[in-house]
Amino acid sequence: MRITCVGGGPAGLYLAILAARRDPRHRVTVLERNPESATSGWGVVFWDDLLDDLYRNDPESAATLRRDAVVYQGQDVLIDGHPAAHLGGYGYSIGRRRLLEILTHRARQLGVDVRFDTPADERVADADADLVVAADGVHSGLRDRHADEFGATGTLGRNSYIWLGTDKVFDTFTFAFARTTAGWIWFHAYPSADRLSTCIVECSPEVRAGLGLDGTDPRAHIARLEQIFAGPLDGHGLLDRMPGQQPASWHRFREVRNATWCRGRTVLLGDAAHTTHFSIGSGTKLALRDAIELAALLPRDATGLDERLGAFDRHRRAVLGPVQDTARRSMAWFEDVDAHLGPDPAAVDPVTFAYDLWRRRGSYPRWRYHLHLATQVGTVRTARRAVGTVRRVVRQRRRPHVPAVPG
Ligand SMILES: Cc1cc2nc3c(=O)[nH]c(=O)nc-3n(C[C@H](O)[C@H](O)[C@H](O)COP(=O)(O)OP(=O)(O)OC[C@H]3O[C@@H](n4cnc5c(N)ncnc54)[C@H](O)[C@@H]3O)c2cc1C
Repeated sequence: MRITCVGGGPAGLYLAILAARRDPRHRVTVLERNPESATSGWGVVFWDDLLDDLYRNDPESAATLRRDAVVYQGQDVLIDGHPAAHLGGYGYSIGRRRLLEILTHRARQLGVDVRFDTPADERVADADADLVVAADGVHSGLRDRHADEFGATGTLGRNSYIWLGTDKVFDTFTFAFARTTAGWIWFHAYPSADRLSTCIVECSPEVRAGLGLDGTDPRAHIARLEQIFAGPLDGHGLLDRMPGQQPASWHRFREVRNATWCRGRTVLLGDAAHTTHFSIGSGTKLALRDAIELAALLPRDATGLDERLGAFDRHRRAVLGPVQDTARRSMAWFEDVDAHLGPDPAAVDPVTFAYDLWRRRGSYPRWRYHLHLATQVGTVRTARRAVGTVRRVVRQRRRPHVPAVPG
């Protein structure tokens, strides 16, 4: 089959890798509008469940990704003037640029024609393809031209966020909440390799305006944020771009849903099909899993493609609905931070607040709360980390032995 992926993000590249692995006779092309290595954004987090899937589907790229990812242990919640409250768990993080380099390299190794500096419209994509994969992200042009047929909706979140980096190296996933004269503002930060961390700053539109963060000079925004977060950043600076990138700007999260992901020979994948608020850290994982599921259903030639696309659409959309509902709850929790924290930082109980933050996606059994209280004790945290390390190592040792899905 001739397969054209529009968009060289995780969804388009991974679909290309898996299609080429599955049948080297497929002619697979990826069209990416940006120059090579000109990705926006900093690090993305993921967990062992994704690594298991990646090792099963393409052990080569999975091993490189694991090698270049960093591990964070535990989560810290910092609230103006209070000692940190702690949450358990560990995860991985990798710079988005490195992730895309790994996937591009692997795709080329497998014979995929990856073309950068190549913006594609529908005419270009359709010209020579049995299947067009619209992996062109949240603002997908291929989707929006036929928004009615896809039943596309886009709902904007209320808060503003800006995706920054910092040279402070966090070793935990850290939330820091600062009370300003305009109200609460906070960041979500985690390590992202190369002695850098990711730092996503979020606040309500009122706070953004009240702090003068809606002006036209982005450098002034960075300076103001460095001043506000001087404590949790230990005086380190914030970075608004990687070398060669455009400077970061403020956005509002856009939740994309579609009534169907297929239209003729075109199928939506990744953010073009669905988005989930960044506070559940899952968009990349979901994009990669879309690719895994679609690749597994691809026929050897174009015969029966319509039915296969229909099956993909029905099944994957059903899986995504509840995940998007969870992400919406998480987003709504952050939109309500003022109510959770109140106007007086001194009156906040950080341990209770941290538990509230942790269970924002749904409810948990009572024992979880007792575990949370115990996690505030240093020796318990050390023990939980040790258990996490053993789990991680055991899981990693098993991976090279996971039978790969046959190509
Ligand atoms: C602040 C923030 C933090 C996040 N953190 C995490 C996290 O921790 N973990 C996680 O799993 N996810 C995270 N995500 C989500 C994640 O970045 C996305 O879900 C993921 O990148 C989706 O992959 P994609 O391939 O569908 O789209 P994208 O990565 O957006 O790729 C789409 C590509 O298509 C290209 N393109 C667009 N139009 C055209 C065209 N006409 N022609 C050619 N190319 C085109 C674009 O240039 C882009 O390279 C975060 C997102 C944000 C905003």
